Amino acid sequence: ALAAGGGLAEAARPDPSALAKDPGAHKYDHGHALILSGGAGRSGAARLAARGALRIGAGLVTLGAPPDALPEIAAQITALMLRRINGRGDLVRMLADRRVNALCLGPGLGVGRARELVPAALAAGRALVLDADALTAFADAPQELFARLHPRCVLTPHGGEFARLFPDIAARLQAPALEGPAFSRADAVRAAAAEAGCVVLLKGRDTLIATPRGQVRVNAATGARAAPWLATAGAGDVLAGFLTGLLARGLEPLAAAETAAWLHLEAARDFGAGLVAEDIPEALPDVLRRF
Ligand code: AMP
Ligand code: MG
Repeated sequence: ALAAGGGLAEAARPDPSALAKDPGAHKYDHGHALILSGGAGRSGAARLAARGALRIGAGLVTLGAPPDALPEIAAQITALMLRRINGRGDLVRMLADRRVNALCLGPGLGVGRARELVPAALAAGRALVLDADALTAFADAPQELFARLHPRCVLTPHGGEFARLFPDIAARLQAPALEGPAFSRADAVRAAAAEAGCVVLLKGRDTLIATPRGQVRVNAATGARAAPWLATAGAGDVLAGFLTGLLARGLEPLAAAETAAWLHLEAARDFGAGLVAEDIPEALPDVLRRF
């Protein structure tokens, strides 16, 4: 089952006690996730992430969007809160609420908006998922990003985003090994986590998760767990939402990343062929019920 090279621990099946809710709990006991959206016509990815964060059990989920996207989001959402977050000042004001304990930036965000908002989000020191445009926005200056990352961050690149942010590491991955042992995806993600100083989750058929201390876990969609229909537009946005929701609920970055990856694949397998991204959060309750 260790498709990504020998000696790797498989991503742990989620610990049911970590996902259970106390019968006497208040919604604020399960955290408040903030997902930032892009502008009009680009809010779908953030809405998928928000749906994921809600389904995985964050107590509250707020979508923060620029003014032009507010109408289309308001027409679509239920159970979410909506807030106007245009520039950096709006984000800083929102983060004055200490109950907002996990953020997600990247899906549909737009690189310009990402360049403005990611540094302010990082400065707040909350748990933080950076995906998609939030990674691409720093492709020409990765050190600017790495200098600000902290241990409560998780980066969730797919292969292309990984290569843009970590070009030297990706080059070693592609180079044929003329001498010595080959440089595997596991080696690449381990090197990336060490460089970034936070957990890195590298997506693909085999999703690899590494910590800055050198631990690597694999969640392999092969053999009995194959789910090729999971490779569909928006699937990564839902994963970012699952992860943000688990961070809001208080899981540590490594546990949150492996639990999110495991449940994401499991929900996709449960649904089966014909899956589209919005089905993944809706398939989650059946998976959770089995624990
Ligand atoms: P993104 O590229 O951001 O939309 O993310 C794609 C999602 O699909 C990630 O969660 C990947 O792990 C997953 N994925 C990609 N290829 C496969 C595959 N062949 N089998 C199962 N999952 C996949
Ligand atoms: Mg993506």
